[in-house]
Amino acid sequence: SERTLVLVKPDGVERGLVGEVISRIERKGLKLAALELRSADRATAEQHYAEHEGKGFYEGLLDFITGGPLVALVIEGPRAIAAFRQLAGGTDPVEKATPGTIRGDFGLEVQFNLVHGSDSVESAEREIKIWFPTL
Ligand code: ATP
Repeated sequence: SERTLVLVKPDGVERGLVGEVISRIERKGLKLAALELRSADRATAEQHYAEHEGKGFYEGLLDFITGGPLVALVIEGPRAIAAFRQLAGGTDPVEKATPGTIRGDFGLEVQFNLVHGSDSVESAEREIKIWFPTL
């Protein structure tokens, strides 16, 4: 069994899609291991998106992710990392994510793509420590 860090980003919370996202996670058969509504401070957001530092969209991304409440989750199950990325769809909600995925069904713009999911075992371990240090 594997664990992965999921965020329902501020656009997803603002649009009332938290239940929709959790419902899809549960229907897939993944288990919730942690769940919290919270606001990300600058330091947390910088740690989370460290790999994007220096990119053109980095500052805007930090403003966006710290701009309102988000929901952080740890979910668990066999191949949970790939399974959630399948549910989420590709980064660009129009060009990459297909209908039937969270981003494909509900997203329009790359920045406002509703959810985050860790992309590897190493990222998942790193990100779970950032958001849920006691887990
Ligand atoms: P996430 O890490 O959030 O699951 P991802 O792995 O699909 O997304 P990354 O390439 O790691 O995508 O980018 C991280 C996040 O940065 C994206 O989810 C998106 O919100 C934002 N982002 C990425 N590329 C752009 C861009 N060109 N313009 C604006 N925002 C972007």
